[in-house]
Amino acid sequence: MSVSEYFADDYAGAREAFIRAADRAGARRASYPHPSARGPAGEALSIDVAMLGPESAEHVLLVLSGTHGAEGFCGSGCQVGLLEDRLHESLPQRVGLVLVHALNPHGFAWLRRVNEDGVDLNRNFVDFSKPLPDSSGYERLHEWLVPRDWQGEGRRAAEAAIADYVRAHGERAFQAAVSGGQYTRPTGLFYGGTSRTWSARTLARLLRECLSPALARLAVLDLHTGLGPTGYGEPIAMGSDAGCARARRWYGADVKSLAGGESISAAVVGTVPNGVVEARPDVETTYVALEFGTRPIGAVLDALRGDHWLATRPDANDAARASIKHALRDAFYVDTPAWRAAVYGRTADFAYRALLQLA
Ligand SMILES: [Zn+2]
Repeated sequence: MSVSEYFADDYAGAREAFIRAADRAGARRASYPHPSARGPAGEALSIDVAMLGPESAEHVLLVLSGTHGAEGFCGSGCQVGLLEDRLHESLPQRVGLVLVHALNPHGFAWLRRVNEDGVDLNRNFVDFSKPLPDSSGYERLHEWLVPRDWQGEGRRAAEAAIADYVRAHGERAFQAAVSGGQYTRPTGLFYGGTSRTWSARTLARLLRECLSPALARLAVLDLHTGLGPTGYGEPIAMGSDAGCARARRWYGADVKSLAGGESISAAVVGTVPNGVVEARPDVETTYVALEFGTRPIGAVLDALRGDHWLATRPDANDAARASIKHALRDAFYVDTPAWRAAVYGRTADFAYRALLQLA
């Protein structure tokens, strides 16, 4: 099987490839079906888990895909590759390998970054019993980011207003205001929701059910796309300061700390590592997101804006819908053999090194 064949063309194909590879590897499997949502062809949606190594593993490498739906093309392909290339045959004693496929299966199937509630899972892990993070930066931009018209005069006015904002505040401040996470606009970008989503609750559940009570050390690789130079995977350390320092020791100096402002990603709130630590508080967790570049940041943002516009326009014509969905897929997945080889190679490298560190 060539590397390109690890990668599927849609969610259903990706899920099938993952299950087939997991069975071939002799993995234990678990499936968490979505209680109500379906894919565009009526297909069932689920979060699937493959577990290898000892059931009572004290040290585990956890690999997540599809936190951001459409980014799952990359993450799923890499997970299938780890199984097909039999990474588990290199597991040190006491070390387990757990692959979580399509944390946001609805977004994967429907070509969206957000989930069935319009929520960005990587902004959803805030404490909803407390006052929510400030959304005023995003509020100033929302009407322009998701304009009334995607073509014509409304769009032109929106572009002019955004250009003014960037001139006044700079690109980095614009990125932070747009993508830092907001809790006021359910139809907007990077929306964190009003409560924990099904995916967030299911992740907490599977972390308790699929990882042994004896678990003491956890390395997480969370596979993302859409930021940075094409084909390069920036390792972004998330979570505690101690975890970030450990990630740098393990993987080297190109690890960037999210909280430290070194990363291509803006500092964000309510991220998945919060959920991991809540579910398994006594475990030493080393959490790294691998962020693979796809297209220039302007093209990725345009694709996201178009998709959010489309989501509030059920009457949009077929041509507009097809063009926006095509742009969205291209924003999060570069469908070429060279890109697939690059992202898989980087992921396999990090996974292998994580196992050696967990030994
Ligand atoms: Zn992502």
